Amino acid sequence: RLSNELIEMKGNIRVFCRCRPLNAGEILNGSAASVLNFEASSDYELQVVASDSTKKQFKFDHVFKPEDNQEAVFAQTKPVIASVLDGFNVCIFAYGQTGTGKTFTMEGTPEQRGVNYRTLEELFRIAEERHGVMKYELCVSMLEVYNEKIRDLLVENSSQTKKLEVKQSAEGTQEVPGLVEAPVYGTEDVWELLKTGNRVRSVGSTSANELSSRSHCLLRVTVVGENLVNGGERLKESQFINKSLSALGDVISALASKSAHIPYRNSKLTHILQSSLGGDCKTLMFVQVSPSETDLGETLCSLNFASRVR
Ligand code: ADP
Repeated sequence: RLSNELIEMKGNIRVFCRCRPLNAGEILNGSAASVLNFEASSDYELQVVASDSTKKQFKFDHVFKPEDNQEAVFAQTKPVIASVLDGFNVCIFAYGQTGTGKTFTMEGTPEQRGVNYRTLEELFRIAEERHGVMKYELCVSMLEVYNEKIRDLLVENSSQTKKLEVKQSAEGTQEVPGLVEAPVYGTEDVWELLKTGNRVRSVGSTSANELSSRSHCLLRVTVVGENLVNGGERLKESQFINKSLSALGDVISALASKSAHIPYRNSKLTHILQSSLGGDCKTLMFVQVSPSETDLGETLCSLNFASRVR
């Protein structure tokens, strides 16, 4: 397990690669032989075997194999989460071809909950551990960026929604004025909010494919911490947790290559995320891939992009 110090030393962008299991259709079609060679891979290196048997190695901060469950994934994610309560902005997102498990990693299912829920659970756990020393208030907002329009996912009656825009606050952070910020006091509150958000999100989308390929969902957790021992000193930090966004790619690679111009303003999504990326923020990207031979082209694209970032 990585300690906070180690993560600090490793810089601000960490990349995890996660491969989903072959699905029933792929097994039926005879794609059972994965193009990813997990025997020759390690926790930090993934080997891809192309159809002409050439092999390619990709390095990551962690490689999750098809059999790695949500607990295993979160065990590696946890150290980054802890730094939120120490005042860091953290952004976690999943990148990859449709159907590779971005939703599964971030949202999960009621039986196999993903990073979003586990993150809040972990924040509450640490807050409880620091009880009497630190006092934390947690707020959650959830929004969708769809066709460059921002929708509040915590407002059930969409006819009442006002137009939402990204504005720069006096402190220089990017905010979306008017967005509902719901206080949460425990994990039950969180689960209810996540359910509301997903319900609102699915309204108005004509197909599951449309929902998954063009809409970007952001869960933002704002933490206000008060040091009860020294008194008075308050820190306000926010971080965004999102799913399925390829527009972010340009920003991430510009940050990774230390480019002078970071194209935050190219999309609503990256504009909103501006204060959660770069600077001394910590970013964790899940690169999701498919094991199937039919997806090899897209898999290599995602892996190549991800290794540029790292
Ligand atoms: P995406 O959001 O990238 O389009 P999904 O998260 O919807 O992809 O995943 C596609 C399908 O594969 C879903 O049915 C999901 O439950 C399943 N799946 C993805 N990753 C895993 C995994 N690691 N273990 C089990 N099932 C998975």
